[in-house]
Amino acid sequence: MTYDVTLIPGDGIGPEVSEAAVRVVEATGVSVNWHRVDAGAECVAKYGTPVPDEVVSSIINNRVALKGPITTPIGVGFASANVMLRKRLGLFANIRPAHTMPGVKSRYDNVDLVVIRENSEDLYSGLEHIVIPGVVESLKIITEAACTRIGKYAFEYARRNRRKKVTAVHKANIMKLADGLFLECLRRAAREAPEIGYEEMIVDATCMNMVLNPERFDVMVMENLYGDILSDLASGLIGGLGLTPSANIGETGAAMFEAVHGSAPDIAGRNIANPIALILSAGLMLKHMAEFEQAARVEAAVQRVLSEGKVRTKDLGGDSTTTEMTDAIIAAL
Ligand code: ATP
Repeated sequence: MTYDVTLIPGDGIGPEVSEAAVRVVEATGVSVNWHRVDAGAECVAKYGTPVPDEVVSSIINNRVALKGPITTPIGVGFASANVMLRKRLGLFANIRPAHTMPGVKSRYDNVDLVVIRENSEDLYSGLEHIVIPGVVESLKIITEAACTRIGKYAFEYARRNRRKKVTAVHKANIMKLADGLFLECLRRAAREAPEIGYEEMIVDATCMNMVLNPERFDVMVMENLYGDILSDLASGLIGGLGLTPSANIGETGAAMFEAVHGSAPDIAGRNIANPIALILSAGLMLKHMAEFEQAARVEAAVQRVLSEGKVRTKDLGGDSTTTEMTDAIIAAL
């Protein structure tokens, strides 16, 4: 069987790490017909949007996409292609697993948590305006429908992956209505899954506890902005952004897999980026496609290369190139 998969190489280090991930998928023997499409700054010049319709229709047709990072201009310029893609495809859940990797120096040796980030609303609604010069209003939108959906998903994920506890992260002491609604929906979902433990934690206390005692966390579910920040924190606990994959899952059956890291323009084009985050994202993609054995092989090959410690990119304290890391993972497969 041959799978049709949309490939968005992205920009910055995107094309380098995407090529690495494609090579690893091909080395597993899974047959993929890659549909390459572009999104991002170049498309704005050509089509007036960072996400041309052709990208969205390709993902809708194929139902699966692997995506390299795409730069979002800071403060000015076009809206984030990443956010636009998630919105247009209804990818409401962003799953970001972070677990300790053998052989990678980090502060803890038994972190194994999953951040589930609500992907569709919150301060990412993009609703901002200047009220009067010097005063800006930025709207945080929270709906019962989206909170219920992500709450249910978090418990379903916990059940499916034999996880024991869900922590709902919030700031309902200050945003009593918005985060209060989020908690109400989470409590409802928790009541429907009595076999899974449930706790609530304020986001600032969560940051402290993640740094002091990350082993206590299992599945963590939160609104969009908290999820963005805490998942980078989780990456830091296991050795950095170069190692953390993610999956975006939608109600319509579409799924998009990407690294947690951004386009890292500071190291782009030098063949020194760590490709592991996107390679592990491709592993999550294989699992989603029910290629469980091949997904497990990819994860095991990455772990083997990391634990041997001979090949390491710069972010892991070595001087191997992106290509050398990819070659080593393929050899370990
Ligand atoms: P975004 O806003 O898109 O998340 P960002 O600029 O905040 O992007 P990244 O692009 O993820 O963040 O980069 C943050 C830092 O991590 C940079 O210094 C970058 O070089 C480093 N980094 C990110 N990804 C990798 C990688 N795959 N390999 C090595 N270093 C990386």
